[in-house]
Amino acid sequence: MKKIEKQRQFVSQHLDLFRCPTCHESFTELQGNSIICSQGHRIDFNKHGYLHFLNGAADTEYGREMFLARRQLLTAGLFKPIVKAVAAALPNRPLRILDVGTGEGTPLYQLAALRPDLDDCLVGFDISKAGVTLATQLAMDAFFCVADLRQLPFNDHSFDAVVELFSPSDYAEFNRVLAPGGTLVKVIPNADYLGELRHLLYDDEDQHASYDNSRVKELFAKHYPNCQTQRVRYRFAIPDGLQSALVEMTPLHWGRGAKKLTPEELAAFREVTVDVSLLIAKKI
Ligand SMILES: [Zn+2]
Repeated sequence: MKKIEKQRQFVSQHLDLFRCPTCHESFTELQGNSIICSQGHRIDFNKHGYLHFLNGAADTEYGREMFLARRQLLTAGLFKPIVKAVAAALPNRPLRILDVGTGEGTPLYQLAALRPDLDDCLVGFDISKAGVTLATQLAMDAFFCVADLRQLPFNDHSFDAVVELFSPSDYAEFNRVLAPGGTLVKVIPNADYLGELRHLLYDDEDQHASYDNSRVKELFAKHYPNCQTQRVRYRFAIPDGLQSALVEMTPLHWGRGAKKLTPEELAAFREVTVDVSLLIAKKI
């Protein structure tokens, strides 16, 4: 089935998930290549076969090259233990899962592979067109769209789980779209996350040399006082030839003061630490 047909079929089967980002009324009709809300606002499937819910252009520096680099590393397993931990934090029954800041989609793809018999309803969105264009090319049953996390194009209580890896949050919106009892899993970097790369790119006293997640943790605990935290830490052996891709897959390399790595430095870059926290909460 063509990509656009797959995405159209998903929308026709799950039209009740969606609401109009302009007037917040539900979408009630799928007509040709458009979905139409009860106020007559219309969103068209674009030529890549997905819906673009943003009003105006996206403000993102995450381009196609960065997502392709990311896909290489993620396919090689860079985040696999994280995705496993996310899967373990979710209830073992069919779920409607929303992946916030899905990027090029590989984490959602890997999550789906860990839940093969559960017949989940999988939705991923990102603010980046480049990311979503790549995500819709994945061979999986999921719906991908471009949307703003501060104005989710989904109805209240539409999801049983909201997951996000390294993405900003809007807890009011997450609570709105989560069903009562739903699960929120947020993955944030700890201080040592990609530490070897930070040390290659920056001097020790540079603000990029480590990462402080205490404010993010505090804010999460304020919204979800009963939340649980789980640490996932491991070393990842960088496959031969993927050193440059690892540098290019994060925004670290374009930060002010980032060094340009020599071929020798890249060749000697063999292992990287992945150190993250899962913040897990239930919506009451
Ligand atoms: Zn509308």
